[in-house]
Amino acid sequence: MAVGPLVPLSSAEEQAALRWLAGVAGSVTGMPTELVRFYCHAGPAGGGNFGGEEGRMPSFRELLAKAKAEIVEVDGPEAEARLGGATFLDVREPDEFQQGTIPGAVHIARGNLEVQIEGRLPDKDVPLVVYCAGGARSALAVKTLAELGYLDAVSLAGGFNRWKDEGRPWVTPRTLTPDQRNRYQRHLLLPEVGDAGQQKLLDAKVLLLGAGGLGSPAALYLAAAGVGTLGIVDMDVVDASNLQRQVLHNMDRIGDRKVESAKKTLSLLNPDVKVITHDLRLGAANVMDVISDYDVVVDGTDNFPTRYLLNDAALLAKVPVVHGSIFRFEGQVTVFAPYEGPCYRCFVPEPPPAELAPSCAEAGVLGVLPGIVGSLQAMEAIKIILGLGETLAGRLLAYDALETTFRTFRVHRDPACPACGADAGEIVIAEYDELCMPHPKEAPAAV
Ligand SMILES: [Zn+2]
Repeated sequence: MAVGPLVPLSSAEEQAALRWLAGVAGSVTGMPTELVRFYCHAGPAGGGNFGGEEGRMPSFRELLAKAKAEIVEVDGPEAEARLGGATFLDVREPDEFQQGTIPGAVHIARGNLEVQIEGRLPDKDVPLVVYCAGGARSALAVKTLAELGYLDAVSLAGGFNRWKDEGRPWVTPRTLTPDQRNRYQRHLLLPEVGDAGQQKLLDAKVLLLGAGGLGSPAALYLAAAGVGTLGIVDMDVVDASNLQRQVLHNMDRIGDRKVESAKKTLSLLNPDVKVITHDLRLGAANVMDVISDYDVVVDGTDNFPTRYLLNDAALLAKVPVVHGSIFRFEGQVTVFAPYEGPCYRCFVPEPPPAELAPSCAEAGVLGVLPGIVGSLQAMEAIKIILGLGETLAGRLLAYDALETTFRTFRVHRDPACPACGADAGEIVIAEYDELCMPHPKEAPAAV
């Protein structure tokens, strides 16, 4: 077949191309130069002989017939019987998918199949029903999937069009707007996030306790990531001394309510985000109302009674808490997953004496430190929402800024924990004093 002219490469370009193809900037020995030239070929797309009769290229019809002979096709009734058991894979183009698809289907356009399938569907033993509009692209896709090790994949004969004509179930998928596709493009490129993950983020509700040093970076990154609802609890006003670390606020906002300043900043950053302001002091009377609507709480509080109050309320509401704390040049992050990992009381059974636990106002803090710790909290919150990776539940991450070290420690659930232990009484939410002890359900009967 016709091969277009080869573009001569300068030796520097050739070496760069070799390194690129080798995947690393290391050794390039053994990489055939012809391969590079082939990829850098400037003529019409082509090259290679696909093995048609006597060198003739097979027609599309022949290629499809060959693929169909090698794969399994199922009809509508058989495919519908697999709904709920098998994973349905829609390989049509995004605009076709957006107009309607089979409920629960995973969408990977045929052109992205080889690149994305292993990231999106890593389990190669899972049964797959693959479909396109009419059954041709899906037949070719199933053949490719078999070559990649997905041996339990079948193609839906007649595709989505026949499925729909037969009156079988289909839905119009929720899709991102063009502006959202552009804004979250770097998320969409990650198979672990993708459209479905971005929709989860947009549907998620995160409560930030405090619009201060930890809450500022956490709120900024959560808003930028497209977490659809951010609640902010704070009853302070912006002071010039906050601006050394509380990056949600600025000079124009001095004297403003912190929740209002935070809302302005976050709304300007991302109009997708609904900011709910809670201009109040979190207390026993309101904590359940405030937190129970949220999927995750990011705790940036700096006092022990509030931490214990939040802990007990979060256990009751079964809301995970991403805890962060800072002291001078050191920070700590962990996740309290109710009844799955330790709670705050397992971790800190009782508050330290006041003289051993000075606040930032007393002890000082380097301004970048809450930026790092709050960003880690935002990352953990997003992992919880997306079900990604391993969270810090059961582990404490300690950051030492002077040594530049991150250390992780195991934190175990305390079987005797008065809040989450097996023998813990019913949790009662009440104001805590300096001792922060849990409240008994009823006062012991006098004898
Ligand atoms: Zn506990």
